[in-house]
Formats: sequence, C-alpha cells, structure tokens
Amino acid sequence: MTATGERLRLDALIGGEPVATVETFENVDPATGETLAEVARGGREEIDQAVAAARDVFEKDWSRRSPAERANVLQRIAESIRNHQSELEEMESLDTGKPLSQARTDIEISARYFDFYARTVEALYGDTVPLSENVFVYTLREPHGVTGHIIPWNYPAQMIGRSIAPALATGNCCVLKPAEEAPLSSVRIAQLALEAGLPAGAFNVVPGLGEEAGAALASHKGVDHLSFTGSTEVGRLVLKAAAENIVPATVELGGKSPNIVFADADLEKAIPTIVRSIAQNAGQTCSAGSRLLVERGVHAEVRDEIARRFEGLTLGPGLDDPDVGPLITEKQRSRVAELVEQGRDQARLIVGGEAPANGPLARGFFFPPTLFDDVVPDTPIAQQEIFGPVIGVIPFNGEDEAAGIANATSYGLVAGVWTRDVGKAHRLVREIQAGQVFVNTYGAGGGVELPFGGRKLSGFGREKGFEGLLGFTRLKTVAVAL
Ligand code: NAD
Repeated sequence: MTATGERLRLDALIGGEPVATVETFENVDPATGETLAEVARGGREEIDQAVAAARDVFEKDWSRRSPAERANVLQRIAESIRNHQSELEEMESLDTGKPLSQARTDIEISARYFDFYARTVEALYGDTVPLSENVFVYTLREPHGVTGHIIPWNYPAQMIGRSIAPALATGNCCVLKPAEEAPLSSVRIAQLALEAGLPAGAFNVVPGLGEEAGAALASHKGVDHLSFTGSTEVGRLVLKAAAENIVPATVELGGKSPNIVFADADLEKAIPTIVRSIAQNAGQTCSAGSRLLVERGVHAEVRDEIARRFEGLTLGPGLDDPDVGPLITEKQRSRVAELVEQGRDQARLIVGGEAPANGPLARGFFFPPTLFDDVVPDTPIAQQEIFGPVIGVIPFNGEDEAAGIANATSYGLVAGVWTRDVGKAHRLVREIQAGQVFVNTYGAGGGVELPFGGRKLSGFGREKGFEGLLGFTRLKTVAVAL
C-alpha cells in the first residue's frame, strides 16, 4: 500500500508486482464513513494477467516442488504473518470494523491455517488398489492448476488462510478477488507471502467490484477450480459460470443457524456462548447462531438473561475494542434496520432495534444487539439471514419439535445443541441438517482443523481441516500392466 497525499492507495498484486489501474474505488471506514484508501478497480484485463502469471509459475515451478518444499514456504508465511501481527490486526479491525481483539484472533487463525496445511500436506498420500496380480493400480492426488478465490468482507484474513493455504499447499497457484468493502489485508498478506519466499505469481490479488473483477474471475477459461464464499445469490452466479466452463467449485454461502437450548442445559455455560456467537463481528458471521430455540420450561429465564447481557454490551469503533463494532456499510445497516422494523410486526422486540441517531456513533454504521421473542418459525424474521447482531427466540416443547424447527429454513450451515442428556444430544445431531453441529459449545476455537461447509442453500463442498486439502486436488488413477 502506498500513500498518495493524505490517502492510501491499494494496488493489485499480480506476478509479484504492484499493478495500478486507471479506475479506482473508495474503501470506507465503517466506524466513521470516511475514506480509508483508494483501491485498484481491477477488471477483465487484470484478471487475465493474474491468471496468466499463476499459470506460468504453476507449470514451471510451484506444482513441481515436493510437498516438503512447499510446506517450508507455507511455514515461513505463517511466521511472517505472526511477525506482522499488530500491523495486520489493526488493518483488519479498521477495514472491517471488527473489535481489535477479534481481529487479533483472526490474524492468529490465518497464520495457523498456513501452519496446519504445511504440516498436513506431507501426509496427503494416494492409494494402491488391489485389482489383480498382473496390474498395479495406484492413485495420485494432483493440484487443479490455477484456482480462483472470491471472498467476502467479514473475515478476509481467515478466508485467505482457509482457502489460499490449502490451495498452495497442494501445488495450485491462486488468483484472489477480495471483497470491495475490505481488501486491505488480502494484498498485505500476499506481499508477506512473496517476501517469505513464495514465487511471484503463485498468489495474485486483484481487488475490484464483484460484477467486474469477480465475474471475470468466475468465468475465466484459464481457471481450473473456483472457491467462493459469500451470499447465496452470488454463489448461484459463480456456479453458473463454473458450469459453463465445467470446473469444480466450492460454495460456502449464508446461514440461519439455530442454537437449541433444552431445559436441562447448563445455562451458565450456554448463555454467554450464545451472546458471544451473535455479538462476534456484530452478527456478520455466516455461522452466527441467529435463531435461539428455547425449551418452554426455561424460556423466560433464558430470554431475560440474554436481554440483560445484550444491554451491557458496548458499541464502538473496532480499534477501541468494544464488544460490538459497526456493520460493514451503510447499505448493510439499512438492510438490518429494515428487517428489524418489519420484525416488529412478526414478533416481540425485547431489546435494541434502533441505530444510534446522535453522538459519534451516528457517523458510523452501528446497530445495537437486538433481541426478539416469541418468533414464529415460518415468519421472515426466522427465515431470512439478517447478518447483524439480531437474535430471534423461538420457544419449543421437546426434542421432535426442536428438530423440526431447526430444519425449517432453507439454510443448513451450523447448529448448537445444549443439553446434559447425551442420548438426546446425539439423536438431535443425526436429525439436524447442517454441515457442523456443536454440543454444549458453539464455534470451537476458530475451527482450523474442523471440516466446514453447508447443505441446502448454505452451499456445498468442504473447507478447513484435512478435508480442505482434498478439495484442492483432483484424483488420477494409474493402472500399470506388470
Ligand atoms: P457477496 O456474495 O455480496 O460477495 C462476496 C464476494 O463475491 C465479494 O468478493 C464480491 O465482490 C463478489 N461478487 C459479487 N458479485 C459477484 C459476481 N457477479 N460475480 C462474482 N463475484 C461477485 O457476499 P457478502 O455480502 O460480501 O458477504 C455476506 C454473505 O457471505 C452472507 O450471506 C454470509 O452468510 C456469506 N458468508 C458465508 C461464509 C461461509 O463460509 N459459509 C462465510 C462468510 C460469509
């Protein structure tokens, strides 16, 4: 990033070189509405250059290195991210609005992904197939080639770790299109990777608008695999582009995840975790526990305690490290406010519901933690992803009703089950349609090692964990007559 006068300028990083574009767009500070940087507005031309750079180094160098050689480079990238921890966490907090301590965790997790995939790629073996005495059959796991990565604004540094690290570990070369709302850490981490010894062109970053750089990357004929994280709507467009070119794609999309609290749950453990899961990143987390299903026996107790805790949460700019930072854009805040306004006719508003109208917070895109009660499962407030600090409480009676309500949305990303009854927990785990189910916890420490992904409108394919490596390889079967 370079400073031009007062303003910072963020270029693309293609083939190891900063690339300025004729047109730029403004990157805005969500805490104040002021411009943080002028960002390169990449388009088809820059995507063409980036794909060509990735292809070149893929063929000549990176895919030809041994897993151990690639792992060494990845470990150096992890080390470099850690060495730049304070710079990166401040950048991420400023750009996304998230509280500094959450940005700190994101940077640590980003580094852990590079470490994890460095370690695990050396244990990624093929198989031998016992076909017959006369034919020796084995399988090879090969990289796809050039991989395209389109990420959202809510966890940029974590997304880079979870998507770019396994792609590089398995020998692919990458082109990343960060979200226009939060592109800073993407370019910086790619620069650090270059300095850490990653060959030029193995990790290119082209900032730009979704319908320009994003669409150009998704439809590029030189891209061999697409990894998309974002909304269901754009996920569909990316899948259509992948279908046109017949390339594999992983789509990690939205969610409306339930936390299910039974009357026999340890409420002292459940309630703080439930509050944290929606306060984190101001509820702008795909796996946020935004539906709270509470068994009738403890309904009032749970609702009142959550309301009490919501009222005590602090709101402020990310760098001040409050409990809840601003939403990412004015557009996002208006959307949340509108859905909450409509929700007043569908359920009972208990706490929150009004954006700060005066004082310093009125300049930024803040929205307070908001709690609805007596939410009816098939109303819009229980069905639509709000992507803000909003929880709707849905009372229920017994296991069967809980499972029915949990599955009664078009999403299927994550769920939490809170009970002391082990049998009930495992029965629910089987019933729930979701990619991840947590019992008596929610989220589990960043989840680097835990395969993650959805079903239904939450998408398909798995990232994170060892599974994440497999997705960035294709299988070749070899039969040799002896
Ligand atoms: P979005 O779909 O609007 O944007 C995501 C990315 O797609 C951005 O980089 C954007 O520029 C790009 N894009 C936009 N239009 C495009 C097009 N026509 N072609 C190609 N790319 C295009 O999503 P968002 O608003 O940035 O993020 C919020 C959504 O992401 C929520 O629905 C959330 O649940 C989801 N999300 C899911 C996960 C997950 O892992 N499942 C993680 C984080 C966010």
